[in-house]
Amino acid sequence: MKKLFVLALAATAVLAQAQTFPGTKPISFVVPFAAGGPTDRVARDLAEAMRKSMGGSANFVVENVNGAGGTIGIAKVAKANPDGHTLLLHHIGMASAPSLYRKLSFKVAEDFEFLGMINEVPMTLVGKPQLAANTYRDFENYIKANAGKLNIAHAGLGSASHLCGLMWQSRLQASEAMTTIPFSGTAPAMNALVGGQVDIMCDQTTNTTGQIEAGRIKAFAVTTAKSLSGHKLLKDYPSLQETGMKGFELTIWHGLYAPKGTPPAVLTQINNALKIALKDPEFIKKQEGLGAIVVNDKRVEPAAHKAFVAAETAKLRPVIEAAGKFAD
Ligand code: ASP
Repeated sequence: MKKLFVLALAATAVLAQAQTFPGTKPISFVVPFAAGGPTDRVARDLAEAMRKSMGGSANFVVENVNGAGGTIGIAKVAKANPDGHTLLLHHIGMASAPSLYRKLSFKVAEDFEFLGMINEVPMTLVGKPQLAANTYRDFENYIKANAGKLNIAHAGLGSASHLCGLMWQSRLQASEAMTTIPFSGTAPAMNALVGGQVDIMCDQTTNTTGQIEAGRIKAFAVTTAKSLSGHKLLKDYPSLQETGMKGFELTIWHGLYAPKGTPPAVLTQINNALKIALKDPEFIKKQEGLGAIVVNDKRVEPAAHKAFVAAETAKLRPVIEAAGKFAD
């Protein structure tokens, strides 16, 4: 009898939590990179779409917790109060960090609840405007002719830009040709590229398309298996595979996570709101304009999201080991 009473009390508490969530307290999207960059942009657009899908009264804030290629932000959410008010919005770094860092204070599969995937985003290999090359072939020749004098920007070890640069340089066999310059995100790295302080970067189309269109940077190639024939601005750039790098393919994806132990009813509520937000025509239009594809409902299922991150982690490990640079 006593046991039944305790169970009933627990069930009432879960229900009450779901009914009162989110209440007036804001929901924070922790973005592990600098404001104004591609991950931040997805978070801000998604926050607006989810505010609407939660009935318009939910209050979202984006918190940029930069550093160590995104791992400081991941660690912060892993230890946050599991009440649904602190969520992590992160990209492929959830799958690359475990191979790039020898020591991490979190375990992705154990310390998080998976709330669903958001989108997929190709990357672009870009250069400063003054770079004396216009085609990908010119660009490779320029790199070889200027070995040791060039630098390549990235958002820290384990970031997407770092991963792309590593994979590309190892295929080019030109890692000695460039010095890597880490930033707290690719927003500040982009400023340095536009200003000509760094030479090269590989970054998500969500950060590069506007700058390419305005002629502030040069683009040389995309990282998808095939060129982006359907994209009005990027359709004429070859994929790295088409330039001769057989099998090269890198697509960045974003997902949403909560700390382990967040109440199931709250997780369901957030997952439902995420699914509705991903169908918001305004959100879809913004993402597509920047070269990103919003995922379908099946990929917003927590189990599918978790399985995908595990598969990506396994897929990236040998690639990272082959390219071989690690952090402690
Ligand atoms: N694009 C960055 C990366 O290279 C992250 C960011 O600033 O959003 O991972």
